[in-house]
This record gives sequence, C-alpha cells and structure tokens, in this order.
Amino acid sequence: MPLALAAWVLAATGGCAAPEPTAPNLLLIVVDTLRADHLAPYGYGAAETPRLARLAQEGARVETAYAPTATTGPTHAGLFTGRFPRSVGVRRNAVPLAEDHATLAEILSAAGWDAAAVVSSFPLHRRFGFAQGFGAYDDEFDPKLASVRHTRYAGHAVPEGFDRRADATTDRALAWLASRERQRRPFFFFVHYFDPHEPYVAPMPYQRRFSVGANATLREQAAALYDAEVAFTDAEIGRLLDGLAAAGFAENTFVVLTADHGEGLFQHGHLFHDVHLYEEAVRVPLLLRGPGLARGLLVEGPVTLLDLLPTLLDLLDVRQPAEALPGRSFAAVLRGEGGIDAERGIVLERREFSAERVGKLSVKGEQLALRRGRWKYIETPEEQRRELYDLYEDPGERTDLHESRPAVARKLAEELARWRAATPAAAAAGPVSPEDRKRLEALGYAD
Ligand SMILES: [Zn+2]
Repeated sequence: MPLALAAWVLAATGGCAAPEPTAPNLLLIVVDTLRADHLAPYGYGAAETPRLARLAQEGARVETAYAPTATTGPTHAGLFTGRFPRSVGVRRNAVPLAEDHATLAEILSAAGWDAAAVVSSFPLHRRFGFAQGFGAYDDEFDPKLASVRHTRYAGHAVPEGFDRRADATTDRALAWLASRERQRRPFFFFVHYFDPHEPYVAPMPYQRRFSVGANATLREQAAALYDAEVAFTDAEIGRLLDGLAAAGFAENTFVVLTADHGEGLFQHGHLFHDVHLYEEAVRVPLLLRGPGLARGLLVEGPVTLLDLLPTLLDLLDVRQPAEALPGRSFAAVLRGEGGIDAERGIVLERREFSAERVGKLSVKGEQLALRRGRWKYIETPEEQRRELYDLYEDPGERTDLHESRPAVARKLAEELARWRAATPAAAAAGPVSPEDRKRLEALGYAD
C-alpha cells in the first residue's frame, strides 16, 4: 500500500490500532468454483454437504448472491476492494491487483486485526497482489500433492505446485489457529479452498459414493465427480469449523462462506467457468454466522460479493472507507432488520478475452450482464449477441426473450450503457515493483 493510502486508511479507521479486547474475529472461507445450486442448503437433493447445511442453520443464508465475475482473480479483486474488477484493472487471472486500493485486509490490519490467509491455488499467489494487508500469507503448495500439473500459467513460471488439496489446506489453517492461543488481538483469517475446481479428482471414497455408472450421460458423470469434490470439501470445512470451536473461537467469530464463481457443468455447452455469465457460473453460496446475527435466517437478496466489504466492516464496527464504493452493507438485514430490495440492479462482468476458442466455444471481447428483478440481460457486443431471460419463469435461462420483449431489453441495455460509461475499465497494473521483484527472485520466484 502506498504511504498516502496508508495514512488515509489509518485516518479512516480512527488512527491507533486498538480494537476493543472483545472485538470479534472474522473467518472468511472462499471455495473456488462452488455453485450454490449443488449444495444441500440450496435444495440440491444429491448433495452431501451437512456442514454447510449446519452453517446455514446457525446463521443466515442468502438465496441469491452473485460473484461479480466467473473468474478467480477478478472476483477476489472485487471481493477484497469492494470495487468492480474492471475498476481495479483485474479483468483476468494473473494480472496483479494494484497497490492503490485499500483492501479488506489492509483496512482491518490498520484497525488492529491480525490478518492471515491460507490460499490453495496459483492464481491467488502473492505475486498477483492478493497478499496486501495480510501479515501471514500461506501460498506454498507441495508439487507432489498438486492436482494441476502446469509449470507455466498465463506467462508465469509456477514456482512450486499449482494448488493444494482441502485436507492440506485445513491442516495449515488449523496450525495457524493453534498459534492464536493467548493472542489478545482479534483476527481476520481468509481461507481459500480449491477442490471443486477441475480436475475433479476427489479422494476415491468420495468418487465411489457418487459413482453414476457407465450409462450415465457425460453431463451426469461430470456432475457426479464435481459433487464428490464438493462433499470432500464440505467435510474439510467441517474439520476447520470444529477446530475453530475447539480453540474457543466459535462464539466470538463471524464465519462467512462463499465462492469466487460457479461451474458450467454443460448447462450452456461449457463444462468449466470463465466464459459465461449464466446463473450456474456466477450464482454462489453465501452463508454468514456470528455474534448478534439472526439464526436460521433466509435473506432472499440479491446481493453481490461487492457488498461484503461494507457489510463485514459494519459487522466488525470498523469505519467505512470515505470513498464511495458500489456495494451496500446488508449488516442490518443479517441482524434481522428489514430486507434487501428485490429490484436492485446487479452488474456482472466476464473476464477479458481476445478472440479465442475455449472448449467448443468461440469467445470474443467483453460480456456484461445486468440482473434487475425478474430480468437478466446479457450483452456480448463483439459476438453481436444480446440475451434476455425471465429468471422467475425460466431460472435455467433456456428461453431468450430479447426479441419478444424488446422494450425491456432496450431499457436494460440503456442502463448497462450508463453503468459502463460511469465505470471505466482501469488499465491492468504493471508487473510487481522492482523491489518486490528482487525479493521474489531472492526467494526463487523468477518468471
Ligand atoms: Zn476460481
């Protein structure tokens, strides 16, 4: 963080770093590639996710929550800064998050929280700027345990393994929690799990339990292998939550669980994510539990993960940044007061593509979507595509109505054009600073 910004953050957070001794902790769990509608608390019958179901009962479940994009780096950039990924110049993976935006970890550190992270895949490596504000950032992956074998990724040498499995992630997270004994300051702990991301290689007992047989369609087989990964991850999240309780932190910790995006599973011709803004790619779980929050609460939404930064600061009683951010706090709703305007607009952006083939799909340029009430409008100018869906009647986005409801499509297109004009895309930040590069090289992280 540049000095001027550091000074601003200190001013915004009241200067001296001294939260109340009883100030609550925050555990933020982000599961990579986790669709909301493949989880028990979201009504999916085949799910084996008892721990997420219990978490939902212990706190609030947001029915309709959107990741701002369907790509890891951009969504985390939005989540951590409360800004649209295009506003902070992170429109694809392996582009660094610039230092000139205050992040959740920076704001909480300045306010007296100890911030630490355990992440589980290379796109969140510290070289991409995501470690800003964290005192400890665990991004070392044992190559022997990695599920992805890339040695290069988006022009970068992968220094060690590409990713780590959920059991290793939980082990690291539990070790960090154990180190918190007798610490007086509250903590912000960010834990990222990777397993539902391809390749779908859950431990064999899970794969066997979800086996659908040789006659199943490709889509059924993919979904079963994916569900096995989700079940394994649920069990490992359970182990983390048990450890949190055993360490005595259960009562005074906000636990927030969400995902950076969903997964196609062939619903619109694509198995993975990144290329579409259909619901399966961007609708994510959002579960929140903690002191003062209503139990068993259903929040209909819609919310976006850009709302989380102001919401979490409210819950922790930390002053909001002075600059205007696009998200809105829904902390009061989580305490049982009021609701969220069902007609509020939510803007979604696809990661940046030049003209490329991804699987069987040709993708080109920008894609933006606007959800408002029952309608979802999607436009992809360089592919000359406009789409309109009625999500109340057609939640699977099967019937494009942009020609049969031209007035609705035009109104949403105009609104999106105004948003685009007011939200310019920032240039991608340059590579890491020369000093940082030297430090990375000294550690063996050269491209
Ligand atoms: Zn991801």
